Amino acid sequence: MKKVWIDEECIACGACVDLCPDVFELDGDLATLVEGADLSLDDEIVEAAEECPVEAIHYEE
Ligand code: SF4
Repeated sequence: MKKVWIDEECIACGACVDLCPDVFELDGDLATLVEGADLSLDDEIVEAAEECPVEAIHYEE
């Protein structure tokens, strides 16, 4: 991925962190990107975006 970002709609459910802990982490009541996240993990990032219950994860391929 060229770019990944998380909208404020995030409800901190933790699903993306469970699916792809190398890219996502929880920071209080929002998910955020791990510092230096490996954005080459395309399949995991797409899966996390698809599984996010509020469609808060976006990416640019
Ligand atoms: S899956 Fe979506 S709502 Fe859940 S923590 Fe990740 S970004 Fe937030």
